[in-house]
Amino acid sequence: MAVKVSYDQDCRMIISGVECGCACEHHDIDKDIYIGKDLIARIPDYIRRRGLGTSCVLVADDNTWRVAGAQVEKALTEAGFSVVSCVIHRDGDMLPDDLSCGEVLLSITRETEFLIAVGSGSVTDTTRINAERTGLPFVSVGTAPSMDGYASAVAPLLHRGLKIQRPAVCPEIIVCDLDVLATAPMHMIASGVGDVLGKYIAKADWELGAVINGEPCCPVCVEMVTNAVNALVDNVDEIARKTEKGMRILIEALLLAGVTIMIIDNTRAVASIEHNIAQYWEMILVQQGKEPPMHGASVGVSTLLVWPMFERFAKEDLNCLNLEDIRARRISREKRERWMLHAYGEEGGKQIMRENPGDFLTWEEQERRVRTAQEHMDEIRAIIAAMPPLEKIRQVMRRLNAEMTPEEEHIPDDLLRRSMHCGKDYRTRYTLFKLIDECGLLEDYLADYPYPFA
Ligand SMILES: [Zn+2]
Ligand SMILES: [Zn+2]
Repeated sequence: MAVKVSYDQDCRMIISGVECGCACEHHDIDKDIYIGKDLIARIPDYIRRRGLGTSCVLVADDNTWRVAGAQVEKALTEAGFSVVSCVIHRDGDMLPDDLSCGEVLLSITRETEFLIAVGSGSVTDTTRINAERTGLPFVSVGTAPSMDGYASAVAPLLHRGLKIQRPAVCPEIIVCDLDVLATAPMHMIASGVGDVLGKYIAKADWELGAVINGEPCCPVCVEMVTNAVNALVDNVDEIARKTEKGMRILIEALLLAGVTIMIIDNTRAVASIEHNIAQYWEMILVQQGKEPPMHGASVGVSTLLVWPMFERFAKEDLNCLNLEDIRARRISREKRERWMLHAYGEEGGKQIMRENPGDFLTWEEQERRVRTAQEHMDEIRAIIAAMPPLEKIRQVMRRLNAEMTPEEEHIPDDLLRRSMHCGKDYRTRYTLFKLIDECGLLEDYLADYPYPFA
């Protein structure tokens, strides 16, 4: 049965056709997602229906307070809720750092029954970690279709100037009012689109993992994300004009990505090498005390960077590979360890190696993968052929005036080069980059990005 997205009279998203017999473990979608117009006034009803209580802390920053926070507070107060508003004032952008997290924590009292975040990435993540630590449920009111993290259960935060990820919780209720979303500036909308376009890479890499390693690949999750990203590509004009239809298509794509995380309890359908590279840029720039690019914008740029590798690999004749030669050129375990510490730093590098112990392959395993790829090259070509032409992706981004080059993201050349080499090493998750490396071809493919490590 095909996956279908519809809405009930309360604007609550209903997803049908998600029954699946694949080898992944599936969970029910037990969160309420509302998308529609004039939803702010209905938030008190949505909260009552879920029985979250009547006493809350509302989190916003100066900007999101103006856009929607004040209205949400008014709607809740008029409906008899007791609201403590925690508006985080900053001169520049509000960041999900120690200070912001602390401001929210100190606004919470023993009477607080739930939290409500009015904002996009930073406000939501700051609230999310507090919800997790206090055990209180939280509601997310989205203000910009700029990233796919609303439905996430992980909080990317800044701790003492370092980028960290902490397990947190998914909101019980997500409310996205289309008129509010349309007030987002174009660069935030373009950022959301960039985040969604990366799903083509995530899908191809997941299917590749199934071919090479027999990894379970959920067809329902793949279909859900593919339909959403295709709809976005086909309706870029609506998005550029911020029409109701355009905003709905974009926020649906961003939220459905999160729904796949709820279903299979991992981010396989939504993030792969393009996210690793973008996260690496962010991590290093933050370490250097610089302001990183927006998440979705950098995912869009890294998607454009890795896409040609897929197109090139589809033309590869793997029967020409010389296995003895590949074996002779293998990197030693010691050299790989030095490389990981160089790329990710002492602490980060050690942690990644600890968490992904199987990532240094035995020759037998590497040979098995190469031979599997040789035998299944037709399937691999079909996976890549199912991606739209790169030019189409570029057109979408141009139409939205999206940033398209690492220069526009202020990524220095050495960081760019290193990220193209080490993005694949961030986790065990299989990607075409790993296969290219296992086939001994990575240096050749990255000749334009010289190996930055002797
Ligand atoms: Zn993302
Ligand atoms: Zn499945």
